Amino acid sequence: MLIYNMSIKDKKIFPSLPFSIRNSKLLKAVITFSSNIIRTKLFNTNAKRGPLFISWLCTYQCNARCKFCSTHEMNKQFPESLSRERALEIAHEIGRAKTWVVGFTGGEVLLWPHLFEVIKVLKKYGVRVYIITNGLSLKNNVDSIIKSGIDTVVVSIDSIDSQEHDQNRGKEGIYSSLMEGIEQLKNKRKGEKPTIKSTTVISRKTYSGIEKTVDRLSGIVDVVSIQPVVTDYANGPHNISEEERSSFFPEKSEEPLIIETLRRLAKKYPSFNNFYFRNIATYWFSPEKLLKLKCWSPFLRLLIMPQGEVSHCPANSKYSKKVGDLKINNLMEVWNSSEMKRHREEIRKHQNGCICWSQDASFNAFLYSLPFINKLPIFKKRS
Ligand code: SF4
Repeated sequence: MLIYNMSIKDKKIFPSLPFSIRNSKLLKAVITFSSNIIRTKLFNTNAKRGPLFISWLCTYQCNARCKFCSTHEMNKQFPESLSRERALEIAHEIGRAKTWVVGFTGGEVLLWPHLFEVIKVLKKYGVRVYIITNGLSLKNNVDSIIKSGIDTVVVSIDSIDSQEHDQNRGKEGIYSSLMEGIEQLKNKRKGEKPTIKSTTVISRKTYSGIEKTVDRLSGIVDVVSIQPVVTDYANGPHNISEEERSSFFPEKSEEPLIIETLRRLAKKYPSFNNFYFRNIATYWFSPEKLLKLKCWSPFLRLLIMPQGEVSHCPANSKYSKKVGDLKINNLMEVWNSSEMKRHREEIRKHQNGCICWSQDASFNAFLYSLPFINKLPIFKKRS
């Protein structure tokens, strides 16, 4: 799980980013964004700066067994992982490439032995860092989290009913552990850093209680976020069986109820009132209506897998194959690889014909909702 405006506290959140934009090093981000858009989207030539966003899926290992997730199975299939030395080098490459944000996900990130060392390197370069954790071992890592300078800790919370959450996550006691961890983090942190954000997957199982969940979580964490259940991720963590899929994905008959639930939530919490959130039901029931959105993924982000392979999109089999391998190449070589350029060429002409609605690609929805981006003729490239 990885990035949109679902926060409900005071803050103005860059849609889906797990931190407040007012605290970020905006100038660096704007230069990296503009430089990449001009060089890669307009001209499809070599980028001078690295991707704006990097999602680093650092381990497939997990200490939970979430019903909608098969990451631990991936661990058997792809056991190889990056060495400590190479992971640290990659962190330096990311820093030098002027990447704005790196989000660590898994698996369970706190099981990755190199996590804090790698984050310390990134922080030396001023990179914004967030981690996404299931919270089971949060309380044992509070000091390391604070010391490493992590900006945001995102904790996955499906329900405020502890039994329901434990059952969904396949781990007894995980709810009480994560709540203890959150409390310890709040008590020990200085000021509001790291920001504590919850993320709740809205699905067939959770939508009826989602309002209650948001109400309760808003009193516990700094920022509350929601993302729809998604699947079809090749080599990604949420590739689930058909049987499990039907238990998480709502049926067409539930559409009116879901639309009404989301509408009520957006009314109660204005920060949910954005394009990404409002279109969760469209994504589930009429995804073809969203095909008009352009994909910005190959111009803005990369996804690093545990074994060092890199892709920019785990959701479409056409683009989920690796564009490079960080065991062999450096980050900028991968970002400027011929495979990356081939993907860019198709996607800049809007020939991809796909849509995704996970948080990590919600910048597509955000950029679509900016009127000026869509009015500029240079961005209206068609095949
Ligand atoms: S819109 Fe398509 S190519 Fe772009 S990130 Fe989503 S699935 Fe991948």
